[in-house]
Amino acid sequence: MTLPSPPMSLLAELTHRCPLACPYCSNPLELERKAAELDTATWTAVLEQAAELGVLQVHFSGGEPMARPDLVELVSVARRLNLYSNLITSGVLLDEPKLEALDKAGLDHIQLSFQDVTEAGAERIGGLKGAQARKIAAARLIRASGIPMTLNFVVHRENVARIPEMFALARELGAGRVEIAHTQYYGWGLKNRDALLPSRDQLEESTRAVEAERAKGGLSIDYVTPDYHADRPKPCMGGWGQRFVNVTPSGRVLPCHAAEIIPDVAFPNVKDVTLSEIWNISPLFNMFRGTDWMPEPCRSCERKERDWGGCRCQALALTGNAANTDPVCSLSPFHNLVEQAVRNDTQARKNFIYRRFKN
Ligand code: SF4
Ligand code: SF4
Repeated sequence: MTLPSPPMSLLAELTHRCPLACPYCSNPLELERKAAELDTATWTAVLEQAAELGVLQVHFSGGEPMARPDLVELVSVARRLNLYSNLITSGVLLDEPKLEALDKAGLDHIQLSFQDVTEAGAERIGGLKGAQARKIAAARLIRASGIPMTLNFVVHRENVARIPEMFALARELGAGRVEIAHTQYYGWGLKNRDALLPSRDQLEESTRAVEAERAKGGLSIDYVTPDYHADRPKPCMGGWGQRFVNVTPSGRVLPCHAAEIIPDVAFPNVKDVTLSEIWNISPLFNMFRGTDWMPEPCRSCERKERDWGGCRCQALALTGNAANTDPVCSLSPFHNLVEQAVRNDTQARKNFIYRRFKN
């Protein structure tokens, strides 16, 4: 039996706890509670197994990973194992002593997320009063520490016009890299799609703003466009079970952070099985790996090894079947569902459903 190539990156979702409540959060609708979280010893074992499997990078994520008191310890484990470590944080819990400890432990990179450039816009999305000032203070501390920093902005209909100001803030704060990512519409994002989806004109304006900034030079820019205005999907996660492995706070192992919505499948857990066994032979990771699972039109399409049929979770969320061609593709028999959502943007909703734990 030929084993698949090892994953490049581990997304370690240490916790779903977060002081913010963004309506596009990539966490699942069913958030996992603190009592269910893996302990330090189990996370250490996960990192060891990941390194043994061939993983090169670990992204410490959440929720807010800084809510975990053992974050520094886990960063030092990653350093001992020679894993490149990246912290994905909202920055609101960061202070000088914590940053110094992370730096000493060997943290390689920080991705600091911003909800907007204005205080009011940031509070409206994140739902946390005073968050913007705390983020700016965090960015200044990171800059002073010398740890390489990327600023992340998720954009949508309410803040997309402020992309030029986002770049100006990134330059002022000394970020080496900026990611401008349009909201992706699954999970919380899908619940809030009618309030977040930008119009075609807004999308075009945002692309022009990104191109104008690129032309200035001196800032590395990643730009993620919204699927809904495309006619071909993105290669979701670089292909199912090909490059990424995601471990949830309670230890479930997923090919992508949204995969828990897929019905009638067992989600393996690091408490029961090794990461290598899960990656190589679990039914979940082999379900949509490669091209054998594909229906038409993907099966006979020349792009099938470029976009791998798009996003399985988007196919499930919109068509009810994860094995369908991603409806973002104009060749999909379900593409009208996406066209319909784009046409509906004149009836945009204003209220958000914030990301919260269920009672
Ligand atoms: S997207 Fe917002 S709510 Fe979700 S983890 Fe990030 S900061 Fe927290
Ligand atoms: S038909 Fe399938 S493989 Fe071809 S472009 Fe569309 S989603 Fe990609």
